[in-house]
Formats: sequence, structure tokens, C-alpha cells
Amino acid sequence: MPDVTEKEKALQVLQTLLREGRSVQPDNYREVYERFFGTVLPNANDGTPPLAQILPEFLGEWERSQQGLSHLQKLQVLRQQLSQSNNRQAAEVLQNLTRQWQQRPSRSIVESEPSHTTENTSAQTIIRLLWQRSLRQGFFVGPAQAPIDRELFEQTESLLQGENFTIEDFLQKIRALWSTLDQYEEKQQHTIKNIHSALHLLFSGSASLLPKDPWLAQQLSHLDAYVAGQESAEKSQEMLEALRALLYQHEQRREPVQAVDRALQELLQLAFSVIETLNTGSAENYRELAELSAQIERSDDIGVIRELVGKVLQRSRRLQEILNNSREALQDARKRLQSTEARLRDLEQEISTLNLLVHQDPLTNTLNRRGLQMAFERESARAKRQQIPLSLTMLDLDHFKKINDEHGHEVGDTVLCHIASLLKSALRAEDIVARFGGEEFVILMPGTSAPATIDVLQRIQLRLQAMPCRIGTVSLRPTFSAGVTIWQPGHDLERSITDADQALYRAKREGRNRIVLDESIGNTTSPSMN
Ligand code: GH3
Ligand code: MG
Ligand code: MG
Repeated sequence: MPDVTEKEKALQVLQTLLREGRSVQPDNYREVYERFFGTVLPNANDGTPPLAQILPEFLGEWERSQQGLSHLQKLQVLRQQLSQSNNRQAAEVLQNLTRQWQQRPSRSIVESEPSHTTENTSAQTIIRLLWQRSLRQGFFVGPAQAPIDRELFEQTESLLQGENFTIEDFLQKIRALWSTLDQYEEKQQHTIKNIHSALHLLFSGSASLLPKDPWLAQQLSHLDAYVAGQESAEKSQEMLEALRALLYQHEQRREPVQAVDRALQELLQLAFSVIETLNTGSAENYRELAELSAQIERSDDIGVIRELVGKVLQRSRRLQEILNNSREALQDARKRLQSTEARLRDLEQEISTLNLLVHQDPLTNTLNRRGLQMAFERESARAKRQQIPLSLTMLDLDHFKKINDEHGHEVGDTVLCHIASLLKSALRAEDIVARFGGEEFVILMPGTSAPATIDVLQRIQLRLQAMPCRIGTVSLRPTFSAGVTIWQPGHDLERSITDADQALYRAKREGRNRIVLDESIGNTTSPSMN
């Protein structure tokens, strides 16, 4: 054997242990060392015991105090320690470590690994340990929401730890566990479906329970129509937000509605009581008056007549008073009703603004994604009904990040508002602008063919150059790229956006500041504006 240092020998022994998948234990070390180098472990001769002697002791201590580390981990640490220092230093490092560990109680992450007599059982144990750990980390989700059959989980775990482990049993258990996982996924789908049917029941049920409030009934039926067919957790979240906004609006509305009801009721009661007073009062009065006038007719005595006339006047005055009072009360009540109704109208106005907000992007006052979804549903249905084209444009500002970087985020925001208002002013009232993402806008143009859409967008490009965005002394002329598609019956919003987005991607790739038509519609690229 060539001149091999003790350190190199130690490394070779460790590598062999690793290759053979054997436990790093003093006996194994000694056995491999002796088999490999044909000599017994050398003894100390210079005060520091040689590495080969320290190692078995070190390993013994490690086995005791570092239980739970895998063989691979142990070997890696050892190799690191040995390759970093020379023979002597390594020996010292290991001796120190051994001493430190001797002070410590056993470390037990998992149960100690049984000693392995053959390579086969050693490999099997490693695999079992790995599975045991994977099981804990991968399958078990916590007792509160454990989707896994706990009993099955525990059975599998004890099978892995136990004496009677067989690979067949193990595979059977794992298959069963997987199938419970599959069921869990199905259960999730199921939960989403349940949420949707619950929302449907809630919306349709509430609408029919509230016939007196057509506004709320209508809002609920909108939501109900929206929820139909939506089957994702994200949509549920959107629905719940919309519902929360609706309930908030309803709460805001309820009080004045009740106030109007109350005022109306008061007015009616008043009207009834006035009519009643008038009826009874006048009946009495007329009877009295008729009686008095009969007495006047019968009498010749001027004194008596004067007295009787006096009475008649008194009666009529009272009648007049009653009438006057009633009129005033009625007028008061009417005024109260009118003012309450006006308050209600104001509130309805506020609510419709609020409603818009739920569908609007607060920065640019264009529609947000939810608003776009609703507009798209309305417009695509109309396009189908009226057999007219509906164009969808995806517009993205060019190098917008540079504007933010050079002038700050606030200037970036102002540019976004500038673009949005320019788009709105350049488009027809029936066209729809929505902010789809940071600096991306979607435009729906009902009744507009692809060439007409491109014309409109080119006009907007020109306008954007003619009307720069001025912020203080800064004057910016941002450009945009756009992808245009024509909605196809049967396509949903997502599909149309994907088509337009692909065209937009081409516009960017071809140099930006241009409009590209979706390939499935045509193959037009507008010339660059530069
Ligand atoms: P490209 O021409 O390829 O589209 O380049 P770009 O820089 O416009 O595109 P990119 O997607 O790399 O950057 C978009 C930037 O828009 C990044 C982000 O900081 C910015 N942004 C997104 N939302 C807002 C916002 O609300 N306000 C501002 N000021 N900036 C925003
Ligand atoms: Mg972008
Ligand atoms: Mg951009």
C-alpha cells in the first residue's frame, strides 16, 4: 500500500461505509479499516491518539448522542471535519467533539436506528425511516383539519416502525392513503359546489322573501345569475365580497326606506282621522245648522233670530277651524314625506355610486375586472342576439416601468389616469374600458369590426402623441402596444383575453408601439408610430 496518511485512510473507510450503506459504528469502522488496510488500528505514539483510534470512540459517542441523524448526514459531517484539517488537527477536533458529546444526553429525533447486520436490512431501514418522515411531513395536515383517515395513518406508521414490516402490507397502506387524499381533493371540489348552491339558495330565497323591496330583489337576482356556473374558490371569494357590499348598501338603504314607510303611514293615519273628524264633525254641525236654520225660519223675534244667527256663525267658524287645521296637518305630513323621499333619492344615488365603485378601479375610474366580466357578459350576449361583432383589445403601456423608475410611482399613477381619460374621451359612449392589471387596459367595442377597431386605436395613438401628460415641468408621451381580437360565440372572457394577449405579445416582440390583430382573425400589423 502506498504511503497513505491516517486521514486519507479514515476518509476511505468512511467512503466505504457510505458505499456499502452500513451504519457508522465503531465495530463497523474497525472491521472495514482492518479489511481494507490489512492492519489493526494503530495505537497512540505521540501524545495525540491517531485518527484511526479516535474515530471508533468518536463514532460510538456520536451514535449515542446524535441519534436520529441519517448515515449520510453523519458521513457528510465527518468528511467535512476530516478534509478541512490536517491529520493532527482533525484528531483534535474529533477528540474535542467526543468530549463535548460525552457531557450531553442522547439526542432523539426519532427512535434509534437498530443495528444492521446486512446491507439489505440497512437499506430497508433507511427507506422505512424516509417514509416515516415523509408520512409525517407530507400526509399529516394537523388534527384540526386532518383530511387523512387518522387510523390508517397511524397503522401505516406503526407498520413502518414495527418488526412485522412487509413491503406488500406497506404498499397496500400507501395505496389506501393515496385514495383518501384523492377523496380529500374531491371533497374540496364538493365544498366549492356546496358553497355555490348555498349562495344560490340564499340569493333566490332572499329575493322571493323580499317582494316589497324590488331593488334588493333585483340586486340579489343579478348576483344569483352571476354565481351560476362559477366554480372556483376565487369566484366564491368574489361573490362573498359582492354580497358583503350588497348587504352594506342594503343596510344603508333600509333606514330611509323604513322612514318613508313610517311617514306614509303617519300621513295616511292623519288623513283618516281628518276625514273621520270632518265626517262626524260636519254631520253634527250640519244637523245643528239645519236645526238652527229651522228655528230661525220659525221665529219672528228678532232678538231670538240674532241669537240663533250668532250660534250659526259660531258653528260655521268651528267648522272652518277644523277644516283649516286639517289642511295644515295634511300639508305638514306631505312635507315630511317629501323630505324623507328626497333623502331616500339621495341615498339611492349614493348607493349607485357605491355600486359603481365595487365594479370600478378607484385609480382610473375605469371598470375593474369584475366590472369587465359583467360588461363582457352583457355585450357578448347582445352581440350574439343582434349578430354584430364585438372587438376586444388588450392594451399595455410600453416601458412603463421606466416611467416609474425615472419619475416615481406617483407620476406613473398620473400617467395611468391620463391614459384612462384619453381612452374614454376618444371612444364612443357604448365602448367599455377596464383596467385589467397594473398598466394593462381591456377595451370592448360593440358593433366594431377588426379593421374599424384598429382605426380607432391608431387614432388614439395619434392623440396620445398630440396630448402629452404634463406633471409639473415633466411632459410625457407614453406609447402603447395592443392586441386585438373579435369575440367568437362560445368563447368566454378568459379565452378572448388570451387571444388578444397573444397578439399583444407579438406587438411587444415586434418592437412595441403597434397594434397587432389576433392571428385567428387576420394577420394585420399596424405600422409602427415611430
Ligand atoms: P413592456 O413594454 O414590456 O410592457 O414594459 P413595461 O415596463 O411596461 O412592463 P412591465 O410589466 O415590466 O412593468 C410594468 C410596470 O408597471 C411594473 C409596475 O411597477 C408598474 N405598475 C403596475 N401597477 C402600477 C400602478 O398602479 N401604478 C404605477 N405607478 N405603476 C404600476
Ligand atoms: Mg404589463
Ligand atoms: Mg407594459
